[in-house]
Amino acid sequence: MKLRLGTKFILIVVGILSITLAANSVLFLRSQNSLLESQLVEQGKALGHFVSLVSPAAILGYDFLLLNEYAREVSLQRDVVYGVIVDPDGRPLTNFINRDNHQITDLIVEGQYPHMAELLPLLQRDPELIALEFPITNDGAVLGAFKVGLSRSELIARFQQQLLVQFATYGLIILFLSGAIFLVFRYNVLFPVQRLIRASRNVEKGEYLQVMVDSDDEMGELTKTFNSMVGSIHQERAKLHHQANYDVLTALPNRMMAVERLTYEINRSRRDQELLAVLFIDLDDFKVVNDTLGHATGDQLLVEIGARLKSKLRDVDTIARLGGDEFLVLLPRIGSASRIEQVTERLIAAVSKPLQLLPREVMVHCSIGVALYPNDGDTADSLMANADNAMYQAKTQRRSSVCFFTSEMNSRIQERLQMEQDLHLALDRGELELYFQPLVRAATGEHCGAEALLRWNHPQKGFISPEVFIPLAETTGQIIVIGEWVIRQAAKHWSKWNKRGLVSGHIAVNISRVQFQERLAWVVGEVVAHYRLPRSALELEITEGVLLEDHELIAKEMKDLRDMGVKLSLDDFGTGFSSLSYLKRFRFDLLKIDRSFVSDLPHDTDDASLVRAIIAMAHSLDLKVVAEGIETQDQYDFLRELGCDFGQGYLFAKPMCGRDYERYLQRVQGRDEGDQPPLSMTVFPSRH
Ligand code: C2E
Ligand code: MG
Ligand code: MG
Repeated sequence: MKLRLGTKFILIVVGILSITLAANSVLFLRSQNSLLESQLVEQGKALGHFVSLVSPAAILGYDFLLLNEYAREVSLQRDVVYGVIVDPDGRPLTNFINRDNHQITDLIVEGQYPHMAELLPLLQRDPELIALEFPITNDGAVLGAFKVGLSRSELIARFQQQLLVQFATYGLIILFLSGAIFLVFRYNVLFPVQRLIRASRNVEKGEYLQVMVDSDDEMGELTKTFNSMVGSIHQERAKLHHQANYDVLTALPNRMMAVERLTYEINRSRRDQELLAVLFIDLDDFKVVNDTLGHATGDQLLVEIGARLKSKLRDVDTIARLGGDEFLVLLPRIGSASRIEQVTERLIAAVSKPLQLLPREVMVHCSIGVALYPNDGDTADSLMANADNAMYQAKTQRRSSVCFFTSEMNSRIQERLQMEQDLHLALDRGELELYFQPLVRAATGEHCGAEALLRWNHPQKGFISPEVFIPLAETTGQIIVIGEWVIRQAAKHWSKWNKRGLVSGHIAVNISRVQFQERLAWVVGEVVAHYRLPRSALELEITEGVLLEDHELIAKEMKDLRDMGVKLSLDDFGTGFSSLSYLKRFRFDLLKIDRSFVSDLPHDTDDASLVRAIIAMAHSLDLKVVAEGIETQDQYDFLRELGCDFGQGYLFAKPMCGRDYERYLQRVQGRDEGDQPPLSMTVFPSRH
């Protein structure tokens, strides 16, 4: 049984009081009783002495009437049950018995009193009687004795009565004292404790209420300590809550909080039948800022952008940082799509405003994807995923684009998923094939090597461009296996042609950034050793994007590759985040000018100046230059005049399968048995 504090306390108080008072009354009554008993005995003694003094004359004078009178007088005294004068042999000479006394009436058998001689021993053994005996003497001679019996009955009755009164009084005292002590306990201990219990339960529920301090005793001290403890817990919890729900850098809500708010807003929009917009905002090229200006500046930029975005929103809107350079904006009760467009315009304008990040001014842009409740999803997950998809779509468009989610995007995602699955099987099914596009020495037009380009012949979709499936393979990680296969195939072809006596020059293989994470140098080393490929015959093409990744890892792998003797070229130069610092930091052998700079040559004066500058700069850094996408003779002539070292493009040859490339090699090396003149002569006649 569970006893409450108050019950325990009252039981203890009542127990202690009862034991104390009971012990007290027993002691008191016992001493009282013995006092009364001794008084009784004294009374008996007085009577006895008196009778033994007056009786000798009556005994000697055989005045039995007088003796009777003495006995009667004695017996009439209070508490005396019997008074008997016996002769020296113990025979009663006279006696008197108090016949009203119950000890006497108890001894009556069949209405007859037994004879005094029989009665006396019985009465003397009765524990309720005090039997006293006094000798009667005359001049030293024993004349008999006076026996008197005093009853304790009255004493006992009085004792019992006193006991009752005592207990009743003590009962009342116990009740009163217990009640009073309990009240004091209740107001001074129990109530404050109960208040503390209630407050503790509230803390459990997340309510941090202070308890009133109404005394300065220990209870008051305890309450004060409790209050300060609750205060600290509150602060700690608030801190933890903030850490768990807010982004440390920007102090904006984080992903967890964003999901919570979004769920709340979805429920409210459902109830009020209102439109809710979810905006996924991603900064364009944030990595470049981080990389070129350092992480501290990148952080500064994120804080500033977060603040700008927030300043353009209403109080009811939410802005959260999901991580990296991704922000999420919730626009509840937004009314119409045109209102959303106004908001996105405002946000884009705010982000695009130049930003003073010492020591320079920076301009960033962002892409925004929009998903709407209820049209594009009714859960936080689906709305966020669809806004994210829309944002990716926006990224593929011009800078600072906004894209609203459409159901086609979903089918595009499905298509992408299907393609991902198909790509898994492509290698095993033999759907991947390497094509080779020749490279020529610009000055002479002679063949000097080829770039290996991957092709996917999909059984249903036909040819799929590497520009479509390579990024996909990169995101799924399949590029590791595929990329290794490409290196192996390229080396295998080279060694086959070499065995057939064909001089295929060097072979350039495109390398994805992801491959760097998987011991690229080790893989390359193993492949070249296996196919006995001269290391200088292998060239690895890396795009600028790779250099934005983990610097140390890339630098180490590149160094290992260079130490191995493998050539490195910087592909698609000018399209990415071209930075001269990369050229200085990472050492390349070649620089490939992207075809977008070549296509409008020689007429576009801007491109012409750019290409001229690139070639001059590359040469000054001791780099050879390859121009990609040369399609016309004019382009070729122009580039050659600028001192470009190598050329690649449809003007010379389109990418071709391994068998065709072998034939091409045979032709350019004059080993063709047919009538056709060597290919180099027909495709790029020299002006000079
Ligand atoms: P890239 O490395 O810059 O390759 C050159 C691209 O330009 C090739 O496109 C080639 O067919 C095309 N091209 C060459 N000359 C001309 C021309 O005169 N005019 C035009 N319009 N185009 C020309 P392709 O084969 O579609 O490859 C596209 C990109 O896919 C490549 O660009 C490369 O970045 C990537 N890629 C191809 N194969 C692989 C591979 O095995 N691994 C990796 N990681 N990427 C690859
Ligand atoms: Mg390339
Ligand atoms: Mg290229």
